[in-house]
Amino acid sequence: MPEDFYCEEVLSGKTTAKKVLETDNVLAYWHTRPFWETHIVVIPKTHVGSLLSINDNALLIELLDVVKKVAAIVVNETGAARVLTNLGEYQDSKHLHFKVN
Ligand SMILES: [Zn+2]
Repeated sequence: MPEDFYCEEVLSGKTTAKKVLETDNVLAYWHTRPFWETHIVVIPKTHVGSLLSINDNALLIELLDVVKKVAAIVVNETGAARVLTNLGEYQDSKHLHFKVN
């Protein structure tokens, strides 16, 4: 797995992502190799290392708004959802991403 799967594969278009929702600066898509039956990834389209290094509050709000909408879709369809972002050593790819599953 590349160091930054999101910039190198998804945002570059090398890996085709099936979109769930998209705004000017945020993309939500179905995980290409899902771990959970419902597994959606929400990422900023520009490189941000992690939740701890985001310093653009407008982007943070846009990102969380997409997370909220995706979570609402999942709860509506399945009755439950979990929103997760990994940090530090838990973070496999060093590009901020929220998982909704
Ligand atoms: Zn990146």
